[in-house]
Amino acid sequence: MTYQPIIGLEVHVELATKSKMFCGCPAKHFAVEPNTHTCPVCLGLPGALPVPNRKAVEWTILLGLALNCRINTDSKFDRKNYFYPDLPKGYQITQYDEPLCVNGTLQLQETSPLKAKTVRVRRVHLEEDTGKLQHTTLNGGKVALVDFNRSGVPLVEIVTEPDFSSIEEVDVFLKKLQRIIRYLGISNADMEKGSMRLEPSISINSISNPNIQFPISNDQLPKYRVELKNINSFKFARKALEYEIQRQTELLQSGETPTQQTRGWSEEKNATVPQREKEEAHDYCYFPEPDIPPIHVDAQWLAEIKNGLPELPDAKIARFIKAYNVSDYTANLLCGDKATADFFEQAVKDGASSVTPQDIANWMVNKKDELPDVPAELVTQIANSQKTVAISAEDLDQTIIKALSKFPQAVVDYKSGKIGAIGPIIGAILKDTNLDKQQVIAAIKKHLEA
Ligand code: ZN
Ligand code: MN
Repeated sequence: MTYQPIIGLEVHVELATKSKMFCGCPAKHFAVEPNTHTCPVCLGLPGALPVPNRKAVEWTILLGLALNCRINTDSKFDRKNYFYPDLPKGYQITQYDEPLCVNGTLQLQETSPLKAKTVRVRRVHLEEDTGKLQHTTLNGGKVALVDFNRSGVPLVEIVTEPDFSSIEEVDVFLKKLQRIIRYLGISNADMEKGSMRLEPSISINSISNPNIQFPISNDQLPKYRVELKNINSFKFARKALEYEIQRQTELLQSGETPTQQTRGWSEEKNATVPQREKEEAHDYCYFPEPDIPPIHVDAQWLAEIKNGLPELPDAKIARFIKAYNVSDYTANLLCGDKATADFFEQAVKDGASSVTPQDIANWMVNKKDELPDVPAELVTQIANSQKTVAISAEDLDQTIIKALSKFPQAVVDYKSGKIGAIGPIIGAILKDTNLDKQQVIAAIKKHLEA
């Protein structure tokens, strides 16, 4: 028997719109005085009516397009009913059976040992974030405080099919997704700040055939799955998944079937802990949101949104490799974020007559901490470093004589036949001057052979 992990992801991303999803409150909530960005709508007061944020709808579609989704012409919002203190209305406005985007894909990088692999994106939908609970001590008593600044912030949910067979693949997917989202400029997708949140589902297939093919058909999936919550970094995602792979594998080996449930990651225990038995969709009594008309995405609107799609990371990397003759590794680094890629291309333009794209790329990769503010300055720096200066015969003689006096042993070695001994002398001269290398070598040899 082999035990094959099967992992699917739900990723929530907060959109960086100016205002919230259904009201005019500022959407910014990180490091903001609690309960200052609220109004009757996002506090769920009686009679308040939601008005959808057009930008949030467009950005969700933009992300759907970047993930090769089909964009539904007709879409709607639904109410997902449940009680929790951070949810003042008693329901979350989300999308149930008619999400904005469906059936997408994301290609995983072909880095060893990963093979090129396509992960299917089941859907990308739009919903609202909840408020935030803060567990603390007040006047000696343990309390839970609620901050509603985050209530109603636009939230995109990306759901994949259970197409991951290893943690490495999950890691690659998340980093690629994060990069795409940042290229689109729709969120900073920062896991530490909670603007990108992860809920992996994991189960283990006990199989006698170790060469099981992904994607796995539905009837081959295990009869249970465990959903993991409270994961706010790549590091914890990895730890929680590692823990679950081991826990579930051990249960299966002892002949038990793991329970279908929701588990949270506990930092203190360095383990996942059960939270509740996994709920089913019907537990939420979804029904269409009666206060918001359905969304119709006509061809013209869709075309306008498509127009705003920038060149995506993979396409940019491929183009850099081809157009600038740089390595995969270098292209990947240069395209790490859009600003760096733009800086590089501007420098290539500015330096067209004086420096090569490869020189600019190498400089940016090797000295990335000391880059000037503007690309033109970088070009000047590189050009200066490469410039050779003319020198009079007398000055050249003086330079050589001075250098030779500092390397007496090298001079002896050279004269006894070790040609390579002059290497350090050449290096020392070029380090202090911008003289032409061949000219320096010829002059040293002339002196030593005289
Ligand atoms: Zn509000
Ligand atoms: Mn959700």
